[in-house]
Order: sequence, then structure tokens, then C-alpha cells
Amino acid sequence: MFGSTTNNLVFNGIGASAGIAVGKAYLLEREDSQVIEKRFLEPEEIGPEINRFREAAQKAGEHLREIIREIPDEYKDQSYILDAHMMILKDRLFHDGTIEEIKKRSINAEQALKIITDKATANFKKMPDPYFQERRADIIHVSNLILKNLLGTSHSPVSNIDKRVIIVAHDLSPVDTTQIQLEKVKALITEVGSPTSHTGIIARSLEIPAVLGLENATESIKTGDLIIVDGSTGVVIIDPDKETLAKYYKRKERLEAFQAQITRTSHLPAETTDGHRIAITANITVLEEIVSVIDHGGEGIGLYRTEFLYLSQSTLPSEEDLFDNYKDLAELMGERKVTIRTLDIGGDKFASSIQWADEMNPALGVRGIRFCLQSPKIFRAQLRAILRAARFGNIRIMFPMISQVEEVVQAKQMLDKAAESLDKEGIPFKRDIQIGAMIEVPSAVFMADILAGEVDFFSLGTNDLIQYSFAIDRVNKHVADLYQPLHPTVLRMIHHVVEAGRTAGIPVALCGEMGGDAINLPVLLGLELDSISMNPVSIPAIKEAIRRLSFEDSKILAQKAMKECCATDVRDLVFETCGKSFEMATFFQSNGA
Ligand code: PEP
Ligand code: MG
Repeated sequence: MFGSTTNNLVFNGIGASAGIAVGKAYLLEREDSQVIEKRFLEPEEIGPEINRFREAAQKAGEHLREIIREIPDEYKDQSYILDAHMMILKDRLFHDGTIEEIKKRSINAEQALKIITDKATANFKKMPDPYFQERRADIIHVSNLILKNLLGTSHSPVSNIDKRVIIVAHDLSPVDTTQIQLEKVKALITEVGSPTSHTGIIARSLEIPAVLGLENATESIKTGDLIIVDGSTGVVIIDPDKETLAKYYKRKERLEAFQAQITRTSHLPAETTDGHRIAITANITVLEEIVSVIDHGGEGIGLYRTEFLYLSQSTLPSEEDLFDNYKDLAELMGERKVTIRTLDIGGDKFASSIQWADEMNPALGVRGIRFCLQSPKIFRAQLRAILRAARFGNIRIMFPMISQVEEVVQAKQMLDKAAESLDKEGIPFKRDIQIGAMIEVPSAVFMADILAGEVDFFSLGTNDLIQYSFAIDRVNKHVADLYQPLHPTVLRMIHHVVEAGRTAGIPVALCGEMGGDAINLPVLLGLELDSISMNPVSIPAIKEAIRRLSFEDSKILAQKAMKECCATDVRDLVFETCGKSFEMATFFQSNGA
């Protein structure tokens, strides 16, 4: 994990929020280092112990509500994380489950809470999707909030910080993160976490450099150590020498100048040096991200992943819940296009409210459109909600995981039926909405000419397209090095779909993660996509990179790239041909997506 010279100790973690900081470390004590005593209760002690737990949970709820109310403006768009904490706090299995444990085992509240927390986190750990694995941390944070009340140690250690420091912690809870005063924190380092953890999400949205997943950080770094944090590369240097310091100060200066420059122009359209425009839109999972989309210059929503409402609660969302959510989204985005992807559940995303059959290969099983076509009631509620919300903005609908033309035909028939039922019931809706197919399975690539006759637009989901065409499980880290978006196979497939779209006169977008990484941009531009959708925070750097490229040169580059034999050769070709013109953007951003 690390190499050393005389006094430069270099560590490598995960760069989760770009930027460079140099400063003194401040070590936070681990929340879970508190020793929990196990006590068996006499029958007459059980009732009072349950009340003690109830009070501690209630106090935790009041504390959360107070934090949500007083949340500073710069954290407002992240308050949904604390709302999720409130939901866990009220969750029947979590709250009532602890009370049951106290009764069943005659044990103290701290111990019962620990049993329930361990059970819940073990269930989340089984989920292959890293996003949902990270939600384990939320349960632990809520549990710690209650525990602190039970033990009578109730304030966040973060609120003690009074100097400008780099926080080093095993983990940071969202409560801790909202207690951070921006002017006192230069950067964050944690031992656990990943780019999809809340610390990563919050650090990015606050634009604080962060390195996460740095094993043993709390053992290797002491309070007061001078450290350098490079949130772009994940490098942390303890006790740097003069030359290293000078090098990083220079790098920091360049990065900050670049960041300031791209932020100033992020709301302008992205146009190449020879006048070609390409639309840059955003991928979102929750509505709270809309602020970030607008702030970073997103021209619309290219992908709304609608799974969150189904996964974040123990019952299915009703048509009304979905309608309210989609209507809010449409209204907030005004005239801008909003692409709602229908439920893409299964594969690596399972909802506790749905009965799932055991599958040997869930990624090849009942997921996406296959699940919806087999679950007409669930699909119908979502389609009706989308049609109803479409009256309030510029909504279009998109079907995921299309592998056969018949699936699009059937999905459209279901949409017709949903419209007929609304009509009969006299419920207002908008029928005339654009319909799109996600192209994320190789069979759809090769049938794109026929599929184009059925839809109004395509959107390439390259995350899955790469998974399915190279037979690489996208959540298996042992094959992660085979996951190469710049591979000529991927480029040829994109090219094929763009050609099919053009022949049929329909636009082609791309919404896989590769769209947000500047290194991929020259080739994607040259493949003549109409729009690219990405993580909102990537938008300014991508727009800036577009402004430095020539469309005509990019087309020639893309043709050459498709004839190369491997991704490394394409990467070299991209750097040789136009590396200089977008060097800063890749330096600032490239995460290998
Ligand atoms: C994709 O597969 O590229 C995509 C955008 O969808 P998701 O990552 O949600 O599967
Ligand atoms: Mg996908």
C-alpha cells in the first residue's frame, strides 16, 4: 500500500473528490470504539429498559430533525441523506426489532441494538451493488446516534474542531459531515468508503478534496502531522519534503485556476472549436441532485434512475407517490428535457417489497424491462404516473435492458393500456410523449436498425453494454481491469448504433459512466453522439474539454480508434492526437470509468 523515502510517506487510497490540500491532520476518534457492556435483565427491568431505548431513539430523532432544520445552505442539497436516516430510525424492523430483542433475550438496550444493527448490515453486505453496500454505513450511523444517547455521550466530535485541518477518520457519519464547518476543513481522509459512499457524495458536492478507503489511516497519521491530500489521484503524503511540497502547491494552483475557469463557463452550451454543439445532460438517482445539475450547467436529465423509491422503503411506492415525485422533477426542470427510465430492478438491485426468485445469474435474469413485463401491476402504476406527470414538463420515457424488439412492442402496448385506463377514469395525462430504448445489450446493438422503427430515441447504457459484451461482471473487482470503455469493440458498437439512429432519423445519446470521463470524450465526440449524460459534477470539465476540441479532427480520430486492436492503443492515440488540448480536464477528472 505504501512506499517510502526518508520522510515522504506515500499512501494510496481512492480519490473520491478532486482537489489538493496541504495542512495539519486532525484525527477523529472511532465512533464504534465504545465498549458495550452486556447485561441480563430481571423480568421487572425489561419494561424500563424498553422505555430507556424508546427515549434514546426519540432523542436521536429530535437531534436529526434539529440538524435538518438548521442545515447550512451549502449542505441543503444533501439533506436527503439525513431524511434517509430518519427513515431508518422509524423503520419497524430496526426500532421494534430492538425492542423485541430486549424482551426475547432479556438483555440491555445497547446489546439488543447491536444485534439488530449487525443483522441489518449483514443483509446489506450481501447486495452486490456498491451503492447499496454503502447504505450499511447509514444503519451504523443511526445506530451510533441512539447508542450515544444510551451511553450519555451525545455530541459529534467534529464540532470540537477549531482550526483549519485535514480530518482523518475511520468513517464519517452524514451528521458529522453536516457539522463540519467548511472554513475549518481542508480535506477528508477516511479508512472506509468509496466514491459512492455518502462521505464521497457530500465531499464532491461541497468540493472538499477527499481520499477514502485509505486502510490504516488512523494508525499511520497522527494529529498535527503535515500531510498532502490529492483527491484526484487518491494519494496522501505524510511529512512531505520541500520538493514534494513545492510540486503539490504548484499542482494545487493550476487545479484551482482550472476549476474557477470551468465553473464560470459551465452554464454555457458546449461547442467545439469548429462550431459543433453537443447536449450535455445529467444522470440522477434522487431529486435532491437537481440543484447540482443546474449549478453545474446540466442541460436536462438524460437519465433518471427511478429505482430509489422502490429500494428505499419496505413497501412498494403507490402510483400517487410516483406521480408526485415525477411531477416535482418535471416542474423543477421546466422546459429542459427529463428522461425517466422505467424501473431497472433485478440484476444487482433488489427491493425488499418484491418477492424474488433465486437466480443463478441475476444479471442475466429477470431484470429491467423483463421484470416490468412480468409484473404488469407494478409497471402499470409507474407508466400511469409518468403519463400523468408529463403534463407538467418536458418528460420522455425510456425502457432499460432491451434485448429483443418484441420487448419494446410489448412495453408500448402497456403504455397504451395505461393511457386508456387513465382516459376511462377521466384522470388528466399527456399521451404524446417520446419513447426511447436503452441500448445496453449487444443483441440490441445489432438490431438497432429495426428497433429504431419502434422508438423516438436511443440511449447507450455503456456500463451494462460493456458488462454484457465482454462477459465482465460490473461489480466484480477481480475482473475490473478488463472493463475498458475505450476498447475498439465498445467504440464500434457505439458507431453502429449512431449510424442506425441517423438512418432512421432519431437522436442517439450515451448515459454510461464513460461519458463523464474526459479521456473518453474526443472519441465519443467523433462518433457523433447527439448528447452525453453524466454525473452532474463532471459536467463543467467535460464542457470545457469539448470547447478545446475540433469536431472534424475528432471524427478522424474516432475512425482510427475503431481500427486499433486494444484499449491501450486507443488511449495512446487519444493522448498523442489531442492530449494537450484537454490535459487539465483529464488530470482533474479521469477515474478510469
Ligand atoms: C448503463 O448501464 O450504462 C446505465 C446507464 O444504466 P445503469 O448504470 O443504471 O445500469
Ligand atoms: Mg444499465
